[in-house]
Amino acid sequence: MNAQHEVGRRRTFAIISHPDAGKTTLTEKLLLYGGVIQLAGAVKAKRGRSSAVSDWMEMERERGISITTSVLQFPYRGLQLNLLDTPGHADFSEDTYRTLHAVDGAIMLLDSAKGVEAQTRKLFRVCKHRAIPIFTFVNKLDRPGRDPFDLIGEVESVLGIGVYPITWPVFRDGTFAGVYHRLAGRVYLFEALDPDAGKGVGAERPPVEVTGLEDPALAEALGERGYARLKQETELLELAGDGFDKERFLAGELSPMFFGSAVNNFGLEPFLESFCELMPPPGPRATDQGPVSPSQEEFSGFVFKIQANMDKAHRDRIAFVRLCSGRMVRGMKVRHVRSGRDLRLANPTQFLAGERSLVEESFAGDVVGVNDPGLFEIGDTLTGGSTFEFQGIPSFAPEHFARLEMVDPLKRKQFARGLEQLAQEGTVQLYRPPEGRAGDLVLGALGRLQFEVVKFRLEAEYGVQVRLGGAPWQLARWVSREDGAPVDLDRLHDAVEGMVVLDVRGRVVVLFDREWALQTANRLHPEYRFAETATGV
Ligand code: GDP
Repeated sequence: MNAQHEVGRRRTFAIISHPDAGKTTLTEKLLLYGGVIQLAGAVKAKRGRSSAVSDWMEMERERGISITTSVLQFPYRGLQLNLLDTPGHADFSEDTYRTLHAVDGAIMLLDSAKGVEAQTRKLFRVCKHRAIPIFTFVNKLDRPGRDPFDLIGEVESVLGIGVYPITWPVFRDGTFAGVYHRLAGRVYLFEALDPDAGKGVGAERPPVEVTGLEDPALAEALGERGYARLKQETELLELAGDGFDKERFLAGELSPMFFGSAVNNFGLEPFLESFCELMPPPGPRATDQGPVSPSQEEFSGFVFKIQANMDKAHRDRIAFVRLCSGRMVRGMKVRHVRSGRDLRLANPTQFLAGERSLVEESFAGDVVGVNDPGLFEIGDTLTGGSTFEFQGIPSFAPEHFARLEMVDPLKRKQFARGLEQLAQEGTVQLYRPPEGRAGDLVLGALGRLQFEVVKFRLEAEYGVQVRLGGAPWQLARWVSREDGAPVDLDRLHDAVEGMVVLDVRGRVVVLFDREWALQTANRLHPEYRFAETATGV
């Protein structure tokens, strides 16, 4: 098989959104349009899920949908789409951020009534940092929502990115009736809304009628008012902006915007068409020895997620590897660069809605699960023998904190081993006081559920009972000195109003109990840098 051709058809992306915006629905529709219909129900099963911890544990036992949908790989219009899941709600965690390091682009999904919401903003920040192309799909147009111009303004001002609406909603008697495709100069009209839509998956695609903007039939279809509104709004759009600049899109500076209703299949067709046309295949990735091109013959990839207990019976750990160059073949020997060890990829695995299947070969852009012999850490590089390493995946400052105490002091060993493993997987951040200083172990996470996960897993897998206690901390910042000199812990301790701790990699962190304490530290001590993210060792 021609590797060049295979890489050229890969499109590896994620959907970023706030819970309830319609990510599950859009994912289902992608599968549906991709002809993977039988899988759509599998994604849907997630719907009934609440954010309760008990549900998570149940899921953990069953190893349910959150894992099996972590990567959906399916063909669409001659392309191979790799859709990586970004868990939200209570299972929002650093994994969600890390996943965004493994994609080449993202779809930002907004609820038209709600606009840019908190979780979208957080996820967007990571995409922006990576400067990857971002599509915006405004969903739920079938319901009363915000003015489309308003939404554009909000995305531009809140997220600091340009917006170019490629489709524009049209209304008939105030009801969402279709979209105007500005680049193609076409109008897609939909059938009347189906009041039962949303109950089923809707296997049939709605008929699409295509005419020009000046077509009298359009004026007839939209009614006088609807037509006048469309004419007026499209003129405003033409006045407001430059044309669609693909270079700016690829650089993550300009987001093409689309409107529609995922549950009704409205506006999806033109969106998917543009998505397939504009979304880039895998590109070069930075390493410590210069960029690596996906067309390079030697295999390379990096670990962006580690999942324990994929198979309860075997207590295994699977590392999810994003391939960046070359070809991975089952049974091949690869180099784990950080340790310098070679290992054989006996059972590379792909996951497809409930199914785990061995893969014989995969290409740059793909995500493959490989058995972790207890060696891998987030960000690790695998190669065919070279010693370069991909840029590390940053750690993100947690937003929730808890004290961790062991109940039975005799289990110290298991406790230490369990914590080390969980920290390696990147389940939570773990902070300890520097040597010689008293203090509690502190856990930090992006979502509170992670604490319960740690407690549950320490008990279930290591037989260690722990107590979680409240902690006053609200912010964590990694500390370095502006002059590059090592940080003197005692001096730092005296300088800041916060707790000085070390993370699992020995990096210096200060925990603050309020924003003000951080601001003060920043103001009084410009010799220190207080960073929200940390990369590498
Ligand atoms: P997620 O939390 O982002 O995965 O959101 P879901 O896909 O589960 O959707 C949340 C709710 O919004 C569900 O009840 C969906 O049926 C509904 N929904 C999704 N798309 C649309 C839409 O286009 N219009 C309307 N009215 N509801 C929608």
